[in-house]
Amino acid sequence: MTLGEGKVEPGGTLGVFGGGQLGRMFGIAAREMGFRFAVYSDGPGGPAAQIADVAVQGAYDDEEAIAAFARQVDAVTFEFENVPAIAGSVAARHTPVRPHGSLLHTVQDRTREKEGLVALGLPVAPFEAIAAASDLAAARERIPGAGVLKTSSFGYDGKGQARIESGAELAAAWRGLGEVPCVLEALVPFEEEISVIVARGVTGDVAIYEPFANEHTNHILDVTTCPAGLEPSVALEVERIARAVVEGLDVVGVLCVELFRLGDGTILVNEVAPRPHNSGHLTIDAHTCSQFEQQVRAVAGLPLGSSERVGPPAAMSNLLGDLWANGAPDFAAALSIPEVSLHLYGKAKPRPGRKMGHLTATAPTVEQAAARVRAARAALTGA
Ligand code: AMP
Repeated sequence: MTLGEGKVEPGGTLGVFGGGQLGRMFGIAAREMGFRFAVYSDGPGGPAAQIADVAVQGAYDDEEAIAAFARQVDAVTFEFENVPAIAGSVAARHTPVRPHGSLLHTVQDRTREKEGLVALGLPVAPFEAIAAASDLAAARERIPGAGVLKTSSFGYDGKGQARIESGAELAAAWRGLGEVPCVLEALVPFEEEISVIVARGVTGDVAIYEPFANEHTNHILDVTTCPAGLEPSVALEVERIARAVVEGLDVVGVLCVELFRLGDGTILVNEVAPRPHNSGHLTIDAHTCSQFEQQVRAVAGLPLGSSERVGPPAAMSNLLGDLWANGAPDFAAALSIPEVSLHLYGKAKPRPGRKMGHLTATAPTVEQAAARVRAARAALTGA
């Protein structure tokens, strides 16, 4: 499928591989615009299936089931990047897959992803691929100081990572991660973590959101604020990078670029998520067109919407399962705070660290928005 082909009108069916909250919010946006929504997931029920017209349970490498699903939909996307690439290539024989499935092959492997970014001329932290024990010595020589060792595949929210103080700890850290292929990155002394959400349509039109500032706790996104308050030249660099990634990887859809901002304003790309992102959830309440509506428009081959913020500054806080430790949270208390909205994902079992939902707040200043969303979250547990 090339740019410009395969428009799906409202009334048609949009599909998603993956049954989590990102699929659910895509589905909600799709239904608002009059599409039917179909989900293919390897588990029973779940956030996306609850709101779907069609929910299929099957393995992601069951080629017959994937093909049957693809024949039922007018276009399909994915909501997490660890869907096996075969699902994308099988589906593409029957329906437009947006973004193209070969993107999965690139982003499922940190080494390939970083090499892809370097090939696009984009700035990343110094890194060395470690495929076998014989690579350790060279990696240690090139990155002798503090670093982060990351497994090449299936890492998220800080899983499959080890911090090392110096190259002397590298071999032990690699053993600790199971001697699987890894990337060693130099530890970046960043001042701030930011992200940028960017969408690209079938005609090549691009919509870039303002950058968001992200705070993590235990490697999981905790609070996002916007605007990020970047110097104009830094914001322009972020925009340049977003455009280069989405065009360079030939993406039709939505993606997020996670970035580090150093003290001198230098921006480095940390990683790319080829789908809507947790840091973009506040676009549902704060922007003209949410990241999920953009994804619907892009996947359906329709013109993109505006990425402008409609209202005042905004903040988002994640609601993890920990908040349920002493019973159901006090949602009324949180919602009594002005300009706060609640989004829950319909997950039955609140486990510690599990993303159950999020809160968004707007306020006249970004500091007030952040304070509001934190106060609302604290009110959930009477803290
Ligand atoms: P990742 O899974 O690559 O997004 O990494 C999870 C978190 O670890 C990031 O959000 C950063 O806070 C931290 N981190 C990852 N890579 C580096 C690095 N090279 N230098 C410093 N911190 C890092």
